[in-house]
Amino acid sequence: MKVLKGAEVSAKLKEETEKLTAGLNGHVPVAAIVRVGERADDLSYERNAMKKIAAFGMEARSYAFPEDISEEDFKREFGKINNDDAIDGILLFLPLPKQIGGRLAETLIRPEKDIDGISPINAAKIFAGEADGFAPCTAEAVIEVLRANEIPMTGARAVVVGRSMVVGRPLSMLLLKENATVTVCHTRTKDLKAVCREADILIAAAGKAGMITEEHVADGAVVIDVGINVDENGKLCGDVKWEGLENAASAATPVPGGVGAVTTAVLAKHLALAAKRRRG
Ligand code: NDP
Repeated sequence: MKVLKGAEVSAKLKEETEKLTAGLNGHVPVAAIVRVGERADDLSYERNAMKKIAAFGMEARSYAFPEDISEEDFKREFGKINNDDAIDGILLFLPLPKQIGGRLAETLIRPEKDIDGISPINAAKIFAGEADGFAPCTAEAVIEVLRANEIPMTGARAVVVGRSMVVGRPLSMLLLKENATVTVCHTRTKDLKAVCREADILIAAAGKAGMITEEHVADGAVVIDVGINVDENGKLCGDVKWEGLENAASAATPVPGGVGAVTTAVLAKHLALAAKRRRG
């Protein structure tokens, strides 16, 4: 079984990003990373994103607001960032606290700066298979892992376990664009094991530690693990149980060191793309 390492995919994305930034006449793209509150997951992702953007030769600025910021204040402060010509791309951590109503931020964010694909405009573009939309970075990271490892998507049967707006849904659209035949599973799916066993490419994005076992995997299938969970010993793990997987899968991504490592690289590439579209 081949282990599909995220670091190798990330290195390819760095090269692509550098080609994009080389065409910017010396302009260094700038990302705004906007956080409300102090959630541990957000802080950890923010650190990784800042590091990756710097490693790819660009700049990231962090904007943190208190958990109890009023809707009016958030709207004003976010508006300043959104309209700041010096900012090429914005990553905003969701969900926002309850007092900031509905889908305010998703609708406010300028689609051309929306490098993590939260705007309904970008969602519609991804749905329509248009090339100039920004997909959520994790969904696109899965495609980049498959592409970099030359795993054929055209005509392949892809099964996605999970239907969230961040991963499962946009990923199913991206796979469709790559001409895969896509099935999306969720908690009401009947006989999940049998459906998973039909997959040439099985993607686990449910957020349930070890729920996908070798019994879910057809001989020779490729398994992509998007899950980030903590097991009973406090160790980071995916949705896929690694033990026994080599009996069935031809290739799989590890956790950590798989899709997660590619997600921030996609974010950085999106930043370069946003800058290129705005200034190139
Ligand atoms: P959500 O909780 O929003 O969605 C989980 C989805 O999985 C839902 O559609 C749910 O179905 C489905 N699901 C849950 N349990 C089962 C089950 N037993 N059988 C079938 N389907 C199931 O999670 P996210 O999409 O936000 O995240 C998924 C995982 O990916 C998490 O572990 C998260 O930490 C990780 N993640 C990783 C990232 C990365 O960079 N690698 C980035 C973002 C997330 P239903 O709709 O019926 O409830």
